[in-house]
Amino acid sequence: MDGHPERVAKGDEAPKGSWSRALWRGFRNRCPSCGGHGMRDGFLRLRPACAHCGLAFSEFRADDAPPYFTILAVGHIVVPSVLFVERGWAPPLWAQAMAWIPITLALALLLLPRIKGAVIGAHWAAGIRG
Ligand SMILES: [Zn+2]
Repeated sequence: MDGHPERVAKGDEAPKGSWSRALWRGFRNRCPSCGGHGMRDGFLRLRPACAHCGLAFSEFRADDAPPYFTILAVGHIVVPSVLFVERGWAPPLWAQAMAWIPITLALALLLLPRIKGAVIGAHWAAGIRG
């Protein structure tokens, strides 16, 4: 033991300049350290640790950041699209609602777990734990 039991797992340290790679790996449900598949166990729940390198995912807490960034991203996709369609074709409001509500929900459900992975990857790259 080196006196730092919380740091004995391999893949614990983020190499410099690995932010974008860590975010992208997390976005794709991969370990930010080794790139092994399966960071999430289910829709949003993280596995306790990476099955490949042993990085403890349980040390990282994304809290409210994933929903915040998901709302930000979905809003920046849907609102301009709604305005574009409204200016171009001006369909009835019921038709707009029938189209945009499911699209908004689908985008949110598609992006939320991926953004959570990216947030965990950013935390790993920045060394933020707990
Ligand atoms: Zn790993």
